Amino acid sequence: MTSELGRRLARRIAVAGPMSVAEFMAEALGHPTLGYYRRALPIGADGDFTTAPEISQMFGELLGAWLAERWQAMGRPSPVRLVELGPGRGTLMADALRATRGVPGFHGALDLRLVEISKPLRALQETVLSGYRPAWHERFDDVPEGPLLLIANEFFDALPVRQFERTAHGWNERMVGLAPDGTTLAFALSPGPSPFARLLPAALRDGDSPPGTVAEISTAAIDLANRIAARLVQQRGWSLIVDYGRDAPAAGATFQALRGHRPVDPLERPGETDLTAHVDFAALAETARAGGARVFGPTGQGTFLRRLGIEQRADALKGRATAEQRDAIDAALARLIAPGQMGTLFRVLAMGDDRSPAPAGFSDET
Ligand code: SAH
Repeated sequence: MTSELGRRLARRIAVAGPMSVAEFMAEALGHPTLGYYRRALPIGADGDFTTAPEISQMFGELLGAWLAERWQAMGRPSPVRLVELGPGRGTLMADALRATRGVPGFHGALDLRLVEISKPLRALQETVLSGYRPAWHERFDDVPEGPLLLIANEFFDALPVRQFERTAHGWNERMVGLAPDGTTLAFALSPGPSPFARLLPAALRDGDSPPGTVAEISTAAIDLANRIAARLVQQRGWSLIVDYGRDAPAAGATFQALRGHRPVDPLERPGETDLTAHVDFAALAETARAGGARVFGPTGQGTFLRRLGIEQRADALKGRATAEQRDAIDAALARLIAPGQMGTLFRVLAMGDDRSPAPAGFSDET
């Protein structure tokens, strides 16, 4: 049985024809009343997935230190908009702010802005962050002007992607249509090559991929990176994007669904299932550079966190922990930085204005 939103989308497709995977993803996650991120409490052991800040306080603490250092590097602007895109349960920001209490002048300069579409998650964020007087926004563009410090962990992977499939005639678009029963959602190919395929990276689009090859692009992610970069350049600031994804253009379908920590059919129960796709960091970096921003990374999360001193932080925490707590700290550290775990699959990308020195955590400007 599908969901209420699944039934509605099927009726719409019956009348208006197939929709793109991007349109499906946007509805399934963001539909004003039935979308997944409007209603669910997705994160944590009893949700659908777990994120780095929920694994260990060290993650938010080190990102907080990174942000405070960027603020100092910018010349300590006041006020500075501290923006988080998709703050989830508020854990990352709470850890970041607790860890930076001692940075002279930093908290006094902060104007905390949370971009969040989920009412239940806004309520959780309020409970852990009310002391910092946050304001909430539906969209990044609603954040008032001014110098910016922006952070986004596992946000870009929720932005819609289009999918294309190589055929004998070119790149057709993968669409969401109806199975022969007329009510079940099913993938279908556009009848001819898609005009949107021109947006694919040239190497992929014009290369000789065999028929059946799938490629993805998120115009929503590229558009957002472009708007963030423009603000950083015009009004100064730095941003840090952390997510799972790829560093270079590559073929492959990564659009996927998770429910209760398990992969499921992405078309099965829209609105009740988390949908994600890998983030194309090469595309984000290229957009930001074209907009005049400085770009560092993407680098692996493990390397980045080690450069920021996560192992020393773990040792410090272990110094005042019980044996059981020490084991938990070691396990969390491994999950965050080990190559087979989040250490390499997750990538970190910094972009910023061209008037500040290079940030910590990266080897080279890219
Ligand atoms: N950053 C958090 C949560 C990641 S889950 C963590 O690391 O734990 C994705 C977050 O983005 C959730 O808070 C979700 O409600 C929010 N979100 C998803 N799509 C959004 C959109 N289009 N606009 C604003 N927030 C969105």
